[in-house]
Amino acid sequence: MYRDGIQPLGDIFESYLIPLETRENITICSCKYLQNGLCTNPEKPEICSIFPYSPLAFLPEECGFKGDIFLKREHLMQRVRKLKEEMLDYQTRLTLTHDKSEQRQLNRLIQSHQAFIDKYKVYGSNDW
Ligand code: SF4
Repeated sequence: MYRDGIQPLGDIFESYLIPLETRENITICSCKYLQNGLCTNPEKPEICSIFPYSPLAFLPEECGFKGDIFLKREHLMQRVRKLKEEMLDYQTRLTLTHDKSEQRQLNRLIQSHQAFIDKYKVYGSNDW
């Protein structure tokens, strides 16, 4: 399964897919190698072994990975919230220090935390 335009697939894997249905702009697919719930592909690509590799992967309601991906997504959101808390602390310390070296260090930390948060902006990380 994939969300059109968000998770581009490699050409080989895309050739395996059999589109089943489309809900809004989401295409739900099966795989031509799936037989009676088992993989019959002698050259199963690595992506199949590590799927779902992202805690933000889109999964249909009936997918067995739903619980696992929910937990991973909650951990990611928790990490982002922790980074935001740390950024608040750094920003407060910035207003209190006159030490240039400490200011540079705090600014670097704020920027790296923000960069991590921004990686997930399209998924709503600014509101987590
Ligand atoms: S594990 Fe096998 S059946 Fe499942 S998507 Fe990969 S190739 Fe297809």
